[in-house]
This record gives sequence, C-alpha cells and structure tokens, in this order.
Amino acid sequence: MKRSVKGDITKIRVDAIVNAANTNLNGGGGVDGAIHRAAGPQLLEECLKIGGCRTGEACFTKAYNLPANYVIHTPGPIWHGGKKGETQLLANSYWNSLMLAKENNCKSISFPNISTGIYGFPKIDAANIAIETVVKFLKEIDDSMDVIFVCFDNLNYKIYQEICPYY
Ligand code: ADP
Repeated sequence: MKRSVKGDITKIRVDAIVNAANTNLNGGGGVDGAIHRAAGPQLLEECLKIGGCRTGEACFTKAYNLPANYVIHTPGPIWHGGKKGETQLLANSYWNSLMLAKENNCKSISFPNISTGIYGFPKIDAANIAIETVVKFLKEIDDSMDVIFVCFDNLNYKIYQEICPYY
C-alpha cells in the first residue's frame, strides 16, 4: 500500500523512516538535520562508525529518540541537469531503501521527497520516479509493505496528491 501525507517525517511512527542523507553520513541541513536533531547525538555516532554511503545506496541504523524504530540513510543524487545518471540514482535510493527495510523485517516505511531540496532535483520528475519505483517494489517484491510519502513543502504535497492516483 502507498499513500502520501503532508507533515514532518520526524513525527511519523513507522518501522523505518528514510533520511535524505549525504555521502559522509555526517548530518547536515534540511530533513537530514531535522532527523538528527530529533534522534539525538547517538544517531550521529552510529552514522560516523559506518563511515559513509554511496549515492543511491542505503544503510541502516537505530532511530534513538525518534518515534520510528530505524532510520535508513540514503544519499540521493545532486541534480546536474539530468545527464549524470540522476534518474537511475534516485530510483536506486528508493529501491535500495525498500530492500533494506524488507531485509530487516520492517512492515512500514516513510520517505521524504529525496533530492528535491538542496540537491535541486525537479520535483515533478522526482515524484514520478519515487512513485514508479515504489509501485514496482510492491508488485515484484512485497505487496504488504506500507509505504508513506511524507511531503513537507506545499508544492511536493500538491504534486503527490495529483499524480499518485495515476499509478
Ligand atoms: P536533499 O539534499 O536530498 O535535496 P533536503 O533535506 O534539502 O534534501 O530536501 C529533501 C526534501 O525534504 C525537501 O522536499 C524538503 O521539503 C523536505 N524536508 C525538509 N524537512 C523535512 C522534514 N522535517 N520532514 C519531511 N521532509 C522534510
């Protein structure tokens, strides 16, 4: 099942929330900063022990003070105009996060709108890639996973409300 909501991902009670991380896993601005602030300093400690994560890949930590049980960290691609494999890399971020959630027996997962903030990915394209990848996972791998797209800004929320019914 998939749905979109408007809100703050740090408040969502699911098995795993996804963090739009950077490749150093050392925290930062946007949703990454919000997740680290809400989780507490132990999250950064665990992330620094992992040491890093490549763009499009995903890694798994505990969620500490967050209402979720786990955090899946995935660095989305930085938008460079579309000719640097950004589409595939963004799809990889969603796919690898879903696979990692499943491997760890998570039954519910929530995503922020990866790469659509500081990383500059066009929002409509990013939403199509996100939804398409989730639908593929639900069809091919596990149709019982509960997937929530958590939109923080009005434009992303509007886009998801409009295009979700087409998938
Ligand atoms: P990126 O570097 O991947 O672009 P950002 O954090 O800059 O990451 O933005 C990704 C998305 O996260 C943006 O659409 C932004 O509106 C959203 N966002 C920011 N704070 C939160 C939050 N607390 N909960 C959910 N989404 C958030």
